[in-house]
Amino acid sequence: MNEARADLRAAVGALVGDQAAGWDLAGLLPAGVLRKLGGDGLLCAEVPAEYGGLGLNSQDGGAFTAYVGSLCSSLRSVMTSQGMAAWTIQRMGTPLQCREYLRRLTGGELAAVAFSEPQAGSDLSAMRTQIWRDGDEFVLDGTKVWTTAACYADLFVVAGVHRQAGAAVVVPARAVGVTVEPVANPAGCRAAGHANLRFDSVRLPAEAVLGGGGQPLSWLFTTALGYGRISVAWGCVGILRACLSAAAAHAATRRQFGKPLAEHQLVARHLAELYSAERVATWACEHASRCRDAGSPEQVAAIVLAKYLSARGAARGAAIAAQILGSAAAQDGHVVARACRDAKLMEIIEGSNEICQLILAQHAVATSR
Ligand code: FAD
Repeated sequence: MNEARADLRAAVGALVGDQAAGWDLAGLLPAGVLRKLGGDGLLCAEVPAEYGGLGLNSQDGGAFTAYVGSLCSSLRSVMTSQGMAAWTIQRMGTPLQCREYLRRLTGGELAAVAFSEPQAGSDLSAMRTQIWRDGDEFVLDGTKVWTTAACYADLFVVAGVHRQAGAAVVVPARAVGVTVEPVANPAGCRAAGHANLRFDSVRLPAEAVLGGGGQPLSWLFTTALGYGRISVAWGCVGILRACLSAAAAHAATRRQFGKPLAEHQLVARHLAELYSAERVATWACEHASRCRDAGSPEQVAAIVLAKYLSARGAARGAAIAAQILGSAAAQDGHVVARACRDAKLMEIIEGSNEICQLILAQHAVATSR
């Protein structure tokens, strides 16, 4: 770990302390923590320095994301949303839009990315949200669901259909016609501020349309998801590390039948599986981030593989850790109980396990020719 990364970890570690369980139970992250991390550029640490960011590459940004994920998946989810919004703006926006919006995101404003709709989950091409031109302005109409961090956001990056193609627009959360309805009692990442959004004829200036619009919808999704998937994958590495640490410590100290749990072979097998899942996820993420930093065409498949292995590993690893801890983790407020709930959702978002498998199968066929 280099020095800069150690500093970032210390800054977040000091702010989070032992509060993550309480935030999860309350279903809320403190505004002061989000503003402080946002203002220090830590929620989108990969934004280049010219836009006020820390300019971390994917490998360093990933390791930092894993650390935050080991502390609090809700906070890591907000970080993923902020980073995904920033990346989408960076890739799609004009130089002027990058200067305007990225500086706001590295200066403490919070953003969320709204793609999913009631009828467009895994199949985002079924999106119905409309973005059209009306004189000098643009109009946005549609409904989005499960937008992470929406309850905290100042800005939404919203995707929709524009003419025969797609567009992404930056929408102030307080614009006339925007309704934010928090998702009640989410099963996991309870403090991540999920909300359903309605946009009723929201009027936007032309400068709000990233790159002028008209990009292919599929390109728009893959751009945003490229960042989202690697970030979630690293977050899952963090969940695995938290589970491994709690399970190993418990197995070493808790005695049953006259010896520590770790010395019972069936428990040792659980620990070996958990350890292997953490190692496999870490290596897959490191490889994907290296590909991303090198701009390699291999990055698309490498990122999907990392996301698939990490999310699946975290969901299984958290369940294994819960088994090792027994009743000790059978209560809300325990890090492993929280990990079980948070990790399950990671198998659904940013391309579910099945969608990842389909992409990997297509890649296997294409590269075997
Ligand atoms: P569906 O698409 O209805 O799928 C249901 C099941 O069917 C899944 O298991 C899926 O894998 C399977 N399935 C679907 N199609 C196929 C197929 N072709 N082959 C095999 N199996 C298939 N969206 C945003 O835009 N922004 C966010 O910030 C955001 N955050 C989220 C946070 C959480 C905690 C959750 C739960 C969701 C979030 N979402 C967000 C939405 C998320 O992206 C969708 O839930 C996800 O894409 C899956 O869509 P769906 O839930 O509609 O499931």
